[in-house]
Amino acid sequence: MKNVTLGNTGIQVRELGFGAMYLPRASVEESDNMIVRALDLGINYFDTASAYSDSEEKLGRILSKRDRDFIITSRSISYKMGLDAFKKDFDQSLCRLGLDMIDFYGFHAVNQPDELKKVMEGPLDFLKELKEKGKIKHISITGHNVVTMIDALKTGEFEMCMFPFNVIEREPLDGLVETAAVLGVATSIMKPMAGGVIDSKALALRFFFNYKAGVITPGMSSIQELEQNFDIFEKRELLSARELKSLEDEVAVLGKEFCRRCSYCMPCPNGIMIPFVHMIHMKCFEKEMDDSVSYTLKLGQQMKPALEKCDECGKCFEKCPYNLSTPKRVKELLELLNSMAS
Ligand code: SF4
Ligand code: SF4
Repeated sequence: MKNVTLGNTGIQVRELGFGAMYLPRASVEESDNMIVRALDLGINYFDTASAYSDSEEKLGRILSKRDRDFIITSRSISYKMGLDAFKKDFDQSLCRLGLDMIDFYGFHAVNQPDELKKVMEGPLDFLKELKEKGKIKHISITGHNVVTMIDALKTGEFEMCMFPFNVIEREPLDGLVETAAVLGVATSIMKPMAGGVIDSKALALRFFFNYKAGVITPGMSSIQELEQNFDIFEKRELLSARELKSLEDEVAVLGKEFCRRCSYCMPCPNGIMIPFVHMIHMKCFEKEMDDSVSYTLKLGQQMKPALEKCDECGKCFEKCPYNLSTPKRVKELLELLNSMAS
């Protein structure tokens, strides 16, 4: 598999990284097996975050017992709650991973200019201190907003940035990828399959072989998925014009306003499983009706009592990096479900 260089750090890793966001879905045994298999295949870049439930802990079970022949990245969103919360989160990450040093550590979901301001006001100095003490090697930043990411890189403080990039979200090609390359900032791609909404997974990954995008880190949730992804990166077949067109046709129905199932909006104070609301809404309203829709509607009926509790508080909207209007979709779904019952 091709190696990529992580910006000015000079570190080389495999082009396919292990996204650990979905490890919480796997049992401890499945997770152990998956991580060992990834290492056996030569994958040497692991990406996690303190917000990903027990993902750090599961990685730590295996990685803490290995020689340091891998790169680990983690990050925290708690700078949004203040410096003390951020410091505490770092200590906990280190403890959960069972390591004495994290290669890249940084700021999670820096989407708005005021969030970047918060990062620069104190949490950044804390990470610089950690770097001097050898607790982290490099400082990183992640975010969904191209403009905020470019502003962050221009401060010269970050050695890696991570952002969503896929066949649907190509905005990073309008300046962000280039800015990172010019400044020698490493790039790592999150949501290469748009949060799992693309059915043609192989085509969605092969899309990247036409770009210099850095390390690609799809979330892995089974050995089978890991091996399939590995195989695609080993073969590294460029997309033909016909394949690209078929991929573009497939995603055209999704538009830009679709849920990436990242769960940043959770928890809902009224117990609504928001990513499921969007999944069911998409099936019923945005994709072509097929046999699976009747099953989806059954799921919708089961969720109805929860949906009726939505009081449009807007908390989910404030936290969604894609500004998706969940209350509106809850309402539409309820109307559909009610019309079917009458
Ligand atoms: S608007 Fe509705 S779905 Fe969103 S957080 Fe509030 S109650 Fe939950
Ligand atoms: S509604 Fe927004 S924040 Fe919530 S899971 Fe979907 S994309 Fe993520």
